[in-house]
Formats: sequence, C-alpha cells, structure tokens
Amino acid sequence: VGHPLLFFDSIDSTNIRAKLEAEQGAESGLLVVADQQTAGRGRRGRGWESPSGSNIYYTLMLKPDFNADCAPMLTLVMALAVAKGIRQTLGRGSEEGAAKVGIKWPNDIVVDGKKVCGILTEMSMEQAYIHHIVIGVGINVRRQEFPEEIRDRAAAIEEQCGFRISRSQLIADIMEAFEEDYEIFLQTHDLKGLRDSYAKLLVNRDREVCVLDPKGEFRGTARGINDQGELLVERQDGSIEEVYAGEVSVRGV
Ligand code: ATP
Repeated sequence: VGHPLLFFDSIDSTNIRAKLEAEQGAESGLLVVADQQTAGRGRRGRGWESPSGSNIYYTLMLKPDFNADCAPMLTLVMALAVAKGIRQTLGRGSEEGAAKVGIKWPNDIVVDGKKVCGILTEMSMEQAYIHHIVIGVGINVRRQEFPEEIRDRAAAIEEQCGFRISRSQLIADIMEAFEEDYEIFLQTHDLKGLRDSYAKLLVNRDREVCVLDPKGEFRGTARGINDQGELLVERQDGSIEEVYAGEVSVRGV
C-alpha cells in the first residue's frame, strides 16, 4: 500500500480525489496526500479542520475483493496503525510520551485525552461488489489555533510532545503498521487477530461511557471490541451490548 503516491499542495478533500482516481482506473494501494484541504470532512457530514503547513491529510484507496460487511472494520485497522505510528514517533522522545497515545472507539486517536486524528472511511459499490474503499485520515501535527467549538477537545501531536515531528516519517511508519495489520485482517476478514492490540490502546476501556445513537442513549462500561469491531459495553445488570459504529457516538462520562 502507499503506491503510487499523489501529493497536492491544496485540494478539496483527499477522499474525494482518491474516489475520482479509483473511478478512473487507479489501482488498489493509491495514496493521496495533501498539505491542505479546503473541504475536509468527518463522519455524519461534519467538517474536518484542514489548514495548510502543519498537518497530515491522506487517503488510502483500496480495491479489495471481500464482502461489503468487512469495510467498516478497515476504519479500526487504520486507527490501530495511526496509533502505533504516533506511539512510535512519541516513543522516540520518551516512553511516557508513547503511553499517552490511545484510540477512542471507533475512529479517533487521542494524545493525553485530546483528539489529534480522525478517520473517515467511505465505500463505493458496483452492483453487489465493492468497487473501492477510501480511508481518509487527518492528523493534527503542529497546529496551534483551533476553532472555538473544538478548542478544548482537539490538540496537535507536537504540542503534546514538545519536539519536532517529520510528517513524511510519520506517514511511512503508519503505512508500515497498516500493511502489517491489513495482512492479519485479510487472513480472517475480521479483527480476530487485532482486537487484543486494539483493546490495549482503547482509552474507553473499563471506563464508563455514554452511547448516543439515533434511538436513544445508554450508559455502561466499555470492555473492548468483538471480532467485528463493535464496542462491547457492559450494562449495570452485567449484560453485554454490542455497539455498531455506524450512527453512534461514544462519550466518556
Ligand atoms: P466525535 O466522536 O469526536 O464527536 P466523530 O467521530 O463523530 O467525532 P469525526 O469524523 O471523527 O466525527 O470528526 C469530526 C469532528 O471532529 C467535527 O465535528 C469536530 O467536532 C471535530 N474536528 C474537526 N476538525 C478537527 C481537527 N482538526 N482536530 C480535532 N477535531 C476536529
């Protein structure tokens, strides 16, 4: 994965570009990287702040031959790779630095509890088959000024670690981790081989969470994920709820 690589100084959205390339015949593994996005997007139609000069925005495009049900799990495979890449980078400074990196299920990476990365996976079908999947990643590397509404939840990695980070090195580390974990994913077409390492990095693990979905909300204790990447939430009566990522947002309480 990661070949060929298309780089843009400024682009509307790396996901949009990667989808266009996929439709025009680009091969699986294409990586679209940009220094700025003018229309960066998050889940459920929300935006992703994407100013130039300091952050990472990339989209990996894949043309896999597995079932469409598998696609959402790729968000978690990528989240694990990003978390590993950032841990490796921060680990060069200190072990404590690396220990601050975690995953907020399903698709956010946090450092010291603040969101430094979001992931947006989108799939395009051709009749019953997947034509392509794009996995878009935005990482705040050295950004300081966030808009008011996200200021207390967002952070940049360099603010958290205090030393300069090479963006190209970080992308290379993430791609290497992704390639390795994607191989493991392909062996079973689920997260059986990855769920333990994912759960170790899960910041919500053994913490009380509030699950908000369109049907209502409930509280429980996050315990990990199942083979399909659903969050396991233990209710007060001890029963386990399996939460599908689709429409759900999880908050710490
Ligand atoms: P959350 O669970 O954090 O509410 P989400 O998973 O529903 O987010 P994402 O697609 O991960 O949604 O991210 C989009 C949201 O992240 C935006 O609505 C905004 O609150 C926040 N956000 C936007 N840009 C950034 C950024 N550069 N860094 C951190 N957070 C951002």
